[in-house]
Amino acid sequence: MNRRAAAVGCLATVAVADKVIFRRRLPWLLVGFFDHPAHVATAALAALALGPRPREWTAGLLVGSLLPDLDHVPLAVSRVHPTLDDPRPVTHCLLAVAPVAVIATLRDDRRLRGAAWGMLAHFARDVGVGTGVPLLWPVTRRSFRVPYPVYAAGCVALALRAVLGANLQNHAERANLGAGL
Ligand SMILES: [Zn+2]
Repeated sequence: MNRRAAAVGCLATVAVADKVIFRRRLPWLLVGFFDHPAHVATAALAALALGPRPREWTAGLLVGSLLPDLDHVPLAVSRVHPTLDDPRPVTHCLLAVAPVAVIATLRDDRRLRGAAWGMLAHFARDVGVGTGVPLLWPVTRRSFRVPYPVYAAGCVALALRAVLGANLQNHAERANLGAGL
């Protein structure tokens, strides 16, 4: 799939997921079926906007984009589920990214470095959707939020950057081919 088609696909994934999440009061368990693909799509938009990256970094980024929601696994099998109005857990704070970033740096591990960025991409979506993110826990439990249109505009900007970047790359490749003839 080319970068342009991938960017449009990611944007559509986010748009459809949020339309469903906002329009229908789905049970918490079902929200994940829409929210998690939107998290992966948000991180993928960032990767597409950045341009070609090492495969391991991109794989780490996509996995990392789901890591802060690991607490959903035990919650999914528990009897009582949280509601969408509950504050997000402390897996959503910058301190949770720190060990991944430190180990990635110490081991010079591209996958883990991608995962750390993926976790930040996860927060970028969660600050715009729902109750926000306790980014500075344990300094403060306050959840940081931005209005949803700010997040949506960020996704559109990333998609535009990916499309423009793809156009420029195609142009450069054609120019190189021309020069080689
Ligand atoms: Zn989350």
